Amino acid sequence: MTTETSEQHATTQAPVEKTNLLGLSREKMEAFCLSLGEKSFRAQQLLKWIHHHGVDDFDEMTNISKNFRAQLKECAEIRPPEVVTEKTSKDGTRKWAVKVTSGSLVETVLIPDGDRGTLCVSSQVGCSLDCSFCSTGKQGFQRDLTVAEIIGQVWLAIKSYDAFPSTNKKIITNVVMMGMGEPLLNFDNVVDAMSLMLDDFGYGISKRRVTLSTSGVVPALDRLGDVSSVSLAISLHAADDELRNQLVPINKRYPIAELLAACTRYWDKQSDTHRVTTVEYTLIAGVNDSPEQAHALARLLKDFPCKINLIPFNPFPLSDYERPSKRAVDRFWQVLSNSNIVTTVRSTRGDDIDAACGQLIGQVADRTKRSERHKANYNQVQAVNIIE
Ligand code: SF4
Repeated sequence: MTTETSEQHATTQAPVEKTNLLGLSREKMEAFCLSLGEKSFRAQQLLKWIHHHGVDDFDEMTNISKNFRAQLKECAEIRPPEVVTEKTSKDGTRKWAVKVTSGSLVETVLIPDGDRGTLCVSSQVGCSLDCSFCSTGKQGFQRDLTVAEIIGQVWLAIKSYDAFPSTNKKIITNVVMMGMGEPLLNFDNVVDAMSLMLDDFGYGISKRRVTLSTSGVVPALDRLGDVSSVSLAISLHAADDELRNQLVPINKRYPIAELLAACTRYWDKQSDTHRVTTVEYTLIAGVNDSPEQAHALARLLKDFPCKINLIPFNPFPLSDYERPSKRAVDRFWQVLSNSNIVTTVRSTRGDDIDAACGQLIGQVADRTKRSERHKANYNQVQAVNIIE
């Protein structure tokens, strides 16, 4: 039997993990301040320093007492995710690869467009849902991002443009939770991060300009309506369950009719009217881009308040699909427009830096082994092609 002196014990004790204040919503920041014996208004001061001024050093927080700053240094930190690469496309789109604590990389994209800047934010390292047209799905899944890692993408994008204080020049006017991952499968962290996007002590973005995009996790969508009022987008991509089962496998659990009904319930819970669901439809050559399929989509959505966003498929290395011709896209758009459904075609941005919609890959330490299976399948197909 061995005995351990208290001195030996002290040297082997793990360091106390500091609380990353970047990831605390207003309520959690207030609770944190109260836990340190401070008044809850200190939370507002801290939030403003972090999210309005982009400060990550307690010594710069000049309206906070020295004693409290010293206390904060002991138990807290402001740690944004680390930027590994930053690329800017010739069209102005900027993409960051961000290292998260597990060593994996996730990607974030800012698309500037006149006065508007739309930030596409990731919510998970990889994705477990494996939609057949999505490069993130092919990477497999590792873990959920923390609140600090999600809101940190907003923070570092503003920092990258040297645009703090964020209350002056707004580099980011819109946020779409459409990057890597299914946001509703990381529910609590995504809800907290979105609350900071909306909060006046956070980024003060209107609820109409923060959009959560889901492939259709119906029970979580029902929960979302109880706690959030952000805009809603759904990844539909097919007008019938048979095809959608192939493209978006979660459809086997929550088919189209259930998803559309959940969207209606979501809006029924909101106090303001006239808000509609954005329906995303990735057009894939020879798969879902025929005029008959456009008519079927128009019939499906006839009485469903929505606008449709058509996204011509952006190819990526492990994909089996092709981009549709411009003629096919125009034809599809025409059918929907003739049916009086507001329909736009998303222009491809940032494809020279692989930042276009559906191309975000990151680097996932895949727990599911899915990326290996996809690579093996891809190599097999390539080998057959070469032999033929
Ligand atoms: S489309 Fe969205 S839900 Fe589907 S695999 Fe890609 S990231 Fe996941």
